[in-house]
Amino acid sequence: MGKIFLEHTGGNRVFSCARCETHLTNRSELISTRFTGATGRAFLFNKVVNLTYSENQDRVMLTGRHMVRDVCCKSCNTKLGWMYEYATEENQRYKEGRVILERALVTESDGIEERISTNENHH
Ligand SMILES: [Zn+2]
Repeated sequence: MGKIFLEHTGGNRVFSCARCETHLTNRSELISTRFTGATGRAFLFNKVVNLTYSENQDRVMLTGRHMVRDVCCKSCNTKLGWMYEYATEENQRYKEGRVILERALVTESDGIEERISTNENHH
């Protein structure tokens, strides 16, 4: 078989702050897209970088009582979502330490992709 499989480590879909394009996380950290935030659809991530965290807040949600921190972009200080610090319900514990980013406040784009230039389009 003549098929060549190329590996590209930088090719993950990445998520950035919609306002200032600071890199936040990527697809491989995405746990669930079935969350709802203040602006609508929200995503749950395993790990998000370049954030600042607010003080702990006690919040009662549909899924029970949680201790959360609001998270903001480190560069432009836009509020992007929240982090679950502590969940009182046993079946919600998987969210502890995880971060919610609101879909409307982040941009999803292709990561750094290595492109091979060819002369195929020249006649
Ligand atoms: Zn930002």
